[in-house]
Amino acid sequence: MASNEFQPLQGMSDIQAPEIYLWRMMEERARAVFTSYGYDELRTPVLEKLSVFQRSLGDTTDVVKKEMYSFKPSKHELAMRPEGTAGTMRHLAGRGEEGLSARVFYIAPMFRYERPQAGRKRQFHQVGVEATGEPNPLADAETIAMQKSLLDAWGLTGSKIQISTRGEPSDRKPVADGLRAALQPHLNDLCADCQRRIDENVLRVIDCKNEGCQTIVDQIPSAIEFMSEASRTYLDQVIQTLETMGVEVTVNPKLIRGLDYYVHTVWEISHSALGAQDALAGGGRYEIALGRKAIPGVGFAIGFERAIMALEACGISGEQFAPVNGVWLVSLGETALVENMKLAAELRAKGIRCGMELETKSMKAQMRKANRSGATKVIIRGDDEIEKGTAIVKNMVEGSQEELNFEEVIRNA
Ligand code: AMP
Repeated sequence: MASNEFQPLQGMSDIQAPEIYLWRMMEERARAVFTSYGYDELRTPVLEKLSVFQRSLGDTTDVVKKEMYSFKPSKHELAMRPEGTAGTMRHLAGRGEEGLSARVFYIAPMFRYERPQAGRKRQFHQVGVEATGEPNPLADAETIAMQKSLLDAWGLTGSKIQISTRGEPSDRKPVADGLRAALQPHLNDLCADCQRRIDENVLRVIDCKNEGCQTIVDQIPSAIEFMSEASRTYLDQVIQTLETMGVEVTVNPKLIRGLDYYVHTVWEISHSALGAQDALAGGGRYEIALGRKAIPGVGFAIGFERAIMALEACGISGEQFAPVNGVWLVSLGETALVENMKLAAELRAKGIRCGMELETKSMKAQMRKANRSGATKVIIRGDDEIEKGTAIVKNMVEGSQEELNFEEVIRNA
């Protein structure tokens, strides 16, 4: 029997206790923060037509070109979603007018066929939001401020927000022409990928990881310098609003964010605890053409697995959110066993976490289980106690115990 028979696929994980309690805390707090900003939860299917992603993310992006889990079971080529925005926009486009001024959030698994490494998985999870509506710097600032509130609500410190702009759609050509002209004298010194990118998608040269390319990029004007006055003013307004709101951001003109749909504000949040894959979250304003009209919106996505790595580096772990308290019932005798099942159901109906052994076992074995369960109270009820109408209540924190009237035990539970 192969030893990996019981392992999930490469780049994918089973998420179990106690880490799952961290996930639950993060999900609950995300829902609370987003709800307070007027966002509704949206759950779209994992599978969409491949064209949904091709049209909105762009055909030349790495995600679409190299990383899609796609297959063709019948007429249409389908794909598992690699991110949340395209499916959300497909949904909002179907809602007509109402979809043009909506606020939705999602917490969902994403799939990318990437080379797995620390912080990079093939199934990972994102919490994200999308707010549709005409471009407005205040909306972008509010979205970033909300994202920061969520990181605060999780207890995450030490993250850094970097911001830039992709400009208006009408800036695309002057930016591409300007960058191409500035890069032309350095063409032979660019890496092979960038020599291709210069025609295909020149912005990708700007965020190329190759050191030689970075040295060249440092010598040429930034993309922002080829943009219109209006685009630069838009970015300034976002930054000023955030400053007023007390949210600290750093401008990084080399921040591109690979996808075609971005316009105006783009940002990324990094955390030093993440190592090589230090991006914790990304966001931006976009225009996505699906159906007759391009839908403008702004949104972000935070990677759960990376947020967990950063939280653990801050000393926050699943154990801290594991259920504590609760009751363990110890039964001595056949009658007590069944009576205690009835009692357990009553306690559980009151919302109390309650466990018991479902077969007759020694007192010692049952107390061992009680200890392991983390219950703070043990109720011992044997056939004798049932006859007397009492129960022994053991306080596991203080180590004390007393025999009480059964009615009183229920009242105090
Ligand atoms: P992106 O839209 O690619 O910027 O992704 C947004 C966030 O999702 C990133 O900042 C990461 O936190 C997370 N993320 C993206 N790809 C992966 C991956 N393969 N494995 C784990 N997390 C990822």
